[in-house]
Amino acid sequence: MGTFQAIRGMNDILPGESALWQRLEATLRETLAAYGYQEIRLPLVEKTELFARSIGEVTDIVDKEMYTFADRNGDSLTLRPEGTAGCARACIEHGLLHNQTQRLWYAGPMFRYEKPQKGRYRQFHQVGAEAYGMAGPDIDAELIGLSARLWRRLGLQQVVLQINSLGSSAARAAYRERLVDYFTARRAELDEDSQRRLAANPLRILDSKNPMMRALIAEAPSLLDYLDPDSQAHFERLQSLLDAAGITYEVNPRLVRGLDYYCKTVFEWVTDTLGAQGTICAGGRYDGLIEQLGGPAAPGVGFAMGLERLIAMLAAAGRPTADPPHAYLIAAGEEAQRAGFALAERLRDQLPALRLQLHCGGGGFKAQFRRADHSGAQLALILGENEVAAGTVAIKPLRAADGGQVTLPQGEAAAYLRAAALEHPL
Ligand code: ATP
Ligand code: MG
Repeated sequence: MGTFQAIRGMNDILPGESALWQRLEATLRETLAAYGYQEIRLPLVEKTELFARSIGEVTDIVDKEMYTFADRNGDSLTLRPEGTAGCARACIEHGLLHNQTQRLWYAGPMFRYEKPQKGRYRQFHQVGAEAYGMAGPDIDAELIGLSARLWRRLGLQQVVLQINSLGSSAARAAYRERLVDYFTARRAELDEDSQRRLAANPLRILDSKNPMMRALIAEAPSLLDYLDPDSQAHFERLQSLLDAAGITYEVNPRLVRGLDYYCKTVFEWVTDTLGAQGTICAGGRYDGLIEQLGGPAAPGVGFAMGLERLIAMLAAAGRPTADPPHAYLIAAGEEAQRAGFALAERLRDQLPALRLQLHCGGGGFKAQFRRADHSGAQLALILGENEVAAGTVAIKPLRAADGGQVTLPQGEAAAYLRAAALEHPL
């Protein structure tokens, strides 16, 4: 009989990895809260039309990456490929954007039918932040500062901030014409993807990942030469805010985002430690989106980060991926098991942060010690007939080369554990 495998590009996050995910998620939550962002929880499925109208028909996502299906009523639904559209939909639907500002974040799986490779999956996880109702560069700078703080809190150093301005839609239209002229004159050098984009969405050619296209793109006219005065002032102000806070950046005039809805500020955090999939966080301003989806004329700006790529960076930096127990309680014999169960419960009462694994399933000392070792615990708490009779517990370091076994009254075990130099203080 055959066994089942996960869908290609969709990963299980195994118990040996989930502790690192939890720590990353906790740091994200704390950092977002430090800036006054509130969580919004959104469905995984939306009407297909929502994504087509917000992300844009001629984008990679809508063109070829969506998981779209008809439900039993025949409505066309899509597994969300990103979070901005659903967040905007929810805010409009619940009237959260009338004469008020919002700072929101969301987290969860996204789905894109891409070619699976390192850092690129078909189900992947994003944390995104969106800020509505604020048109100035101060909120753009805040979002960038928030992400910069996050890298510091995570201890990630090899990340570079790139910023650009896409200008107003009128400025972009003028630039688009120049770009079409340029690429049309050198059509023979365009790869197949870019030839297709030349007609449909020429700005996206700048986003090409094909190294063969690099020189051609480098010589293309620069969007920054076509900025309207308003966007120009916005971009300069953003840079001065970043300078004031000591946030370093590179202006990359070729930076365009893959989604249609952006205007003015766009930014990406890039690392050279992950190979080809080096963008860990990407965002920008989308002032027209809410109105385009039928809401009030509320400006918006946001970012999304890919958690798999952050996890890969943290793991490469040697961050432990699992949280082994602090202690493993070994109890051989029926009486010792009874006393062991009671002692474990008491210790958890006294030390709520203690990770204590109680040996279950019986067996002799030797087998139980093997399990204790395998658990990764730093200490073994040992109860045998003698200890039960005396009301004591033996404590044996399992990792440290030095320090021998001690025997204490059971009532002193909590104080001993608190004082022991455990890796994560209790
Ligand atoms: P790329 O150019 O790498 O395809 P994108 O422009 O499609 O990225 P966004 O839609 O801006 O990416 O998503 C924001 C972030 O989410 C990316 O910077 C990346 O970290 C992550 N991400 C996007 N697609 C995937 C994927 N298929 N697998 C894993 N992470 C992803
Ligand atoms: Mg993509």
